[in-house]
Amino acid sequence: MTTLIIAIDGPAAAGKGTLARRLAAHFALPYLDTGLLYRAVGRRVLDDGADPSDPVAAEAAARTLRPEDLDRADLRGPPADAAASAVAAIPGVRAALLDFQRSFGRARGAVLDGRDIGTVVFPDAREKLYVTASPEARGLRRWKELLARGVEADLATVTAEVRARDAADAARAAAPMKPAEDANLLDTTDLDPDQAFAAALALLADRETVAAKA
Ligand code: C5P
Repeated sequence: MTTLIIAIDGPAAAGKGTLARRLAAHFALPYLDTGLLYRAVGRRVLDDGADPSDPVAAEAAARTLRPEDLDRADLRGPPADAAASAVAAIPGVRAALLDFQRSFGRARGAVLDGRDIGTVVFPDAREKLYVTASPEARGLRRWKELLARGVEADLATVTAEVRARDAADAARAAAPMKPAEDANLLDTTDLDPDQAFAAALALLADRETVAAKA
């Protein structure tokens, strides 16, 4: 039996995590938020007082990442966002995290979300979604998340940070953020989480119908 991999990619605050969690529950699959791996690596580099864009420090942190690093309470928020994006541009960091992601998915199938799941980590995944939303909608969502966590922030600044991180993630040479050629596109700008979930299920069901007819 082949395991079911659902690969979900897309820019920051597009609704990938919420959607991925719901799909994982629906299909009874394990879920991996791969952004957390890059966040944890970035945090460890910052702990050591090093620069997240230093390849030697970042790769060493990635190679010695421990499960408990993913449980840290400080993996969200602007400093962790920027550190994650910086370490994620380093090929040695990406290589160090690849086996873990593949083993996680191969064991029992999985839903994984990130930037390169459909292009690099599981290019043969049967189901691929590329989730987007307008930068304004994404900035507003990230700002509301910060507010809900008690972090005061300026909407324009948050939106600018989201845009800058997406630009860096899309422009880097190593596994740049982009839709896989065979990904289904899902724009969540005007969708609430329930509507996005329903739209994703419809896209996945369409794919099943096409596969069954082939
Ligand atoms: O998804 P999240 O916003 O938590 O990801 C944080 C950062 O980690 C991204 O901005 C990106 O630079 C990096 N990332 C990546 N590849 C992934 C997941 C995340 O490069 N598969």
